[in-house]
Amino acid sequence: MTRKAGTIDESQLSLFDQSAPPPPSFFALQPASSPEFSPRVAHTSPPVPPAVPQPTFTPPPDIGSAHPVTLASVLAPAVFEHPQADRTIRLEAHVVGYALRRARRRSIGFVVDTEGLSVNAPKWVSVGDIESALRAKAAWILRKLAEQQERGKRLQAAKVDWRDGASIPFLGQPVIVVLDPRAAATRGGALLNTDAGAVQGQIEGVPRLTLHIGLPHTATPAQIRDSVQSWLQRQARRVFEERCQIFTQRLGVRYTRLSLSSAQTRWGSASANGSIRLNWRLIHFALPTIDYVVAHELAHLREMNHSPRFWDVVRSVMPDFEQARGTLRNDVLPVFD
Ligand SMILES: [Zn+2]
Repeated sequence: MTRKAGTIDESQLSLFDQSAPPPPSFFALQPASSPEFSPRVAHTSPPVPPAVPQPTFTPPPDIGSAHPVTLASVLAPAVFEHPQADRTIRLEAHVVGYALRRARRRSIGFVVDTEGLSVNAPKWVSVGDIESALRAKAAWILRKLAEQQERGKRLQAAKVDWRDGASIPFLGQPVIVVLDPRAAATRGGALLNTDAGAVQGQIEGVPRLTLHIGLPHTATPAQIRDSVQSWLQRQARRVFEERCQIFTQRLGVRYTRLSLSSAQTRWGSASANGSIRLNWRLIHFALPTIDYVVAHELAHLREMNHSPRFWDVVRSVMPDFEQARGTLRNDVLPVFD
C-alpha cells in the first residue's frame, strides 16, 4: 500500500482503504491493527499560511515538565532514531532522530510509524520553525513514538520464520509446521494432525496441533509459506461456509455468493446484491472472532448501514460481539513475507 504524506485526513485514514468511499450499498468492516496494514499516525502542525485547513486531530496541549503525569514524562529517557534520520532534536528527556523531507506542501506534517518520526515540510520553512513546531507537539510525538515502538516489537515477534517447526495461529491455536514428504500423497498435500503431543503429561501452552506439509526437507522458505498459505485458504473457505450457513439461518437472510478476499484493509464486506466477501486471514482467529465478522456482514443483508438498528441485528445473534471486535482491533496477525 503506498501512501503519500499529504493532508492530515489522508494520513489519519491510512488505516483504511485509500480509495474513494464505498458506494452507499456497500459496507465494509475494516481491520484496525494488523501488521500488513502498517498504520501510520500523523499530525499536521498548525498551518503555516492561514489558508490551510485546520487539522481534525488536536493533540493535548504540551504540559511537559510542568505536569508530572504526561505519558512522555513517565517514559524512561529513550532514543528514537528513524533509519533515515538526518536531524536530531531533544524533546523533553528524549533524543529523537527524524527524517526531514522537503516537499511541495503548505504545512508541516508529522508522521510517526514503526520506523520513527518523519517530518514533511515546505522548502521555505526554516529548521528553527520546524523545531519549534516539534517542541510544541512534543507530548503527542513522544506518546506516538512509544506506542509505535511497542507495535514494532510485536510485529517483529509475529514474523513467521518459514521452516520446519514454524508456528502459525489457526482458529486461535498455534499449529506447528512439519515438513513431511509422506503428506504429499494426501489431498492438497497437507494434513492437520490433531493428536500430536497428546500424550500424558502434555505441557500446558505447548502446541499439540501439527500441520504436515508434503514437502521435502530441502524445501525453500517460499515453498513452505505457499503450501501453508494455500492450506489456510482451503480451511478458510470450509470454515466460513459452515459459519455462514449457521448465521444465515439465525438471521433469516440469504446470500448469493461467498468469496475469499486477501484485501489488505478489510476483514469483510457485503453488497446489496447479496454477495459476501471475507478475508481468508480471519482463519487465524478463534471461532467467536470469525463469527463476529460473518454475523456482521450477513446482518448487512438486513440493514445496509451501521445504524443502531444494524447493531441490534448483530447483537441478536451475537450478544457479546464487542469482545470479538476488540480482538480484531488489537491482535497482531503473523507476518507472512
Ligand atoms: Zn459493516
